[in-house]
Amino acid sequence: MVRTIVGANWGDEGKGKITDMLAAESDIVVRFQGGANAGHTIINDYGRFALHLLPSGVCSPNVVNIIGPGVALDIEAFLREMEDVVSKGVPQPKILVSERAQVLMPYHVEFDELEEERLGKNSFGSTKSGIAPFYGDKYQKIGLQLCQLYYPDVLREKLAHALDIKNALMEHLYHKPPIDLEALIAQMTELAERIRPYVADTDEYLMNAVREGKNILLEGQLGTLRDPDHGIYPMVTSSSPLAGFAPVGAGVPVWSIKEIIAVTKAYSSCVGAGPFTTEIKGDEAEELRKRGGDRGEYGAKTGRPRRVGWFDCVATRYGCEMQGATEVALTNMDVLGYLDEIPVCVAYECDGERVERFPVTPKLEKCRPVYVTLPGWKCDIRGIKHFEDMPENARRYVEFIEKQIGCPIKMVSNGPRREEMMYR
Ligand code: GDP
Repeated sequence: MVRTIVGANWGDEGKGKITDMLAAESDIVVRFQGGANAGHTIINDYGRFALHLLPSGVCSPNVVNIIGPGVALDIEAFLREMEDVVSKGVPQPKILVSERAQVLMPYHVEFDELEEERLGKNSFGSTKSGIAPFYGDKYQKIGLQLCQLYYPDVLREKLAHALDIKNALMEHLYHKPPIDLEALIAQMTELAERIRPYVADTDEYLMNAVREGKNILLEGQLGTLRDPDHGIYPMVTSSSPLAGFAPVGAGVPVWSIKEIIAVTKAYSSCVGAGPFTTEIKGDEAEELRKRGGDRGEYGAKTGRPRRVGWFDCVATRYGCEMQGATEVALTNMDVLGYLDEIPVCVAYECDGERVERFPVTPKLEKCRPVYVTLPGWKCDIRGIKHFEDMPENARRYVEFIEKQIGCPIKMVSNGPRREEMMYR
């Protein structure tokens, strides 16, 4: 059976924890898009890990982890993360990297930095991991697949061609020294050798696994609202974080996907730029930020303070619909225990009009939240094992959200650790 875990919002919904938890009962975990630009935080018996590129099954010794062809493969980041995980006592993870995965080049990172600098106050709030230039090149067909690194003639020809374009930009747009072809070939050849033991035909491996009825988890990064088509364009990421893209980016047949778990937080958080209707500021925000997640709401990749706000039913209903979610996991429920009352956004207001459908970006920019206020439960719910044992107001909060978003909330997470989960 194939399951997909995706974000219903702006990312950082707590997907890593859910994947880490479900990985324990899976045979294979696959990353299908994105790169080392975001981060999943997982906390288990080995410690706390901020994973950027590695699939969240790396801490489960029986799981085969796969980096699919849809991923932006930063080889150095991959090798570094592997070393880090193993140095913390995790047994050497089983990992396969698709030979069709495209390679993120050192110049992608450089161009990402240069472009954000050039844009100044109009920058996209990129994590500067090279993701946008990488996917640009992939679709412009001047990228390199991992397999091409093992054919010296192909590597030289493709890189020379790419550098014709890159160096024109370096010289005339950014006024920087050109990239040296020979040094780059040497660097990529060395990296190719270091990653060679992991390279495989993962499409074939997965096709066989599907036929054998293996349990496979497909793991997305970020969330619906960062999708290039359905998100808050242009404040989006450059590959699709939607479950609909998962079979493409992972390399499994569409029909094999049976469950789509959309993850959302009991409040909202957002890293990076773009309209964020329920955002709160000042002391109120600082309090929520401090209490959120396992160590406060600070980006797993960048350490930047995350923007925080109240739960947004409009965005999350749309987020779940566009994911085609079959169920929802609600995380960080424990965080809200300090509040007397909790605002929940049930609609937007735009130029006097009530808006219930998540709008296009220019309209979204003008929307204000319409809140209803629910009573808080004023206690710590960590440690509670069954949904029925939660305070009545906490149960009501979950039921209210479930009705609003129109998708069953089957899991409620009340702490960052793997075992802190209530099932419904
Ligand atoms: P991801 O990218 O979707 O995996 O999300 P992140 O890992 O970046 O952010 C989620 C944060 O919430 C992390 O700090 C997690 O450890 C934390 N977390 C996940 N579930 C819970 C929960 O139920 N309660 C609390 N307090 N923290 C949680």
